Amino acid sequence: MLEVKNLIKSYGNEKVLRGVDFSVKKGQTVAIMGPSGCGKSTTIRCLNLLTEPDSGKVIFRGTNLLELSSSELLKLRQEIGFVFQNFNLIERLTVQENVMLPLIKLDFTLEQRVKYARAALEKVRLADQASSYPKQLSGGQKQRVGIARALVIEPSLMLLDEPTASLDPILVKEVLEVIEDATYSQKRAVVLVTHEVSFALKVADIILLLDNGQVVEIGSSESIFTNP
Ligand code: ADP
Ligand code: ADP
Repeated sequence: MLEVKNLIKSYGNEKVLRGVDFSVKKGQTVAIMGPSGCGKSTTIRCLNLLTEPDSGKVIFRGTNLLELSSSELLKLRQEIGFVFQNFNLIERLTVQENVMLPLIKLDFTLEQRVKYARAALEKVRLADQASSYPKQLSGGQKQRVGIARALVIEPSLMLLDEPTASLDPILVKEVLEVIEDATYSQKRAVVLVTHEVSFALKVADIILLLDNGQVVEIGSSESIFTNP
């Protein structure tokens, strides 16, 4: 599904990624972990080119995203869902309108868009808040809207960048539960950045430990956390 080869990225003189390699198969979940500032967020943003690497390859379903024209890239991105740390909801739109946004570019009728948005909101258990505005929601509910907006396109690749990092500890659990229930599909690959060790152990098939822009360990969650 996804193959990442020798990703290199610098900001000015600071080398942030120093050759990151990994791959994700259909049905797999990969958790990217490591100390603050080690390049986790930069790595996951490179997977749909929200951040453009200086060099390397991001091969998604056989196509290197770095070789695409911008219109081809927009089209492939319609198969990739992204969940942001800070939700990125549009405040003047309702919950349902926020979730319908990714479908606008696609060739769906309004009726279909409403139907798919409702289905996505049901998956994150927020169907009853469809006509609310983001400011009426808790942080945990906002992030569940962010997850519904990523799921509505039925992405074959789902990316989550520290989805619980800006939430009160008390709201983290509801969001992790929704991620666990709603994002997994045999047809999908999931990559997430998280500091939640027990959650990563539970959901990830593969854990990738980054340090200073390099993969220092990669393996099944058991092997990573039981090795000395
Ligand atoms: P992590 O997600 O592991 O905390 P990041 O990928 O966010 O790490 O950041 C890695 C390094 O790159 C940090 O030193 C950060 O300050 C720097 N960095 C990230 N984004 C930018 C940017 N847009 N401009 C300049 N420096 C950046
Ligand atoms: P079902 O209840 O079997 O999912 P739907 O009427 O919801 O049937 O969907 C009909 C078709 O549209 C199916 O092929 C399904 O894969 C596709 N589809 C459903 N939801 C979405 C969506 N959010 N984005 C794109 N395609 C979708």
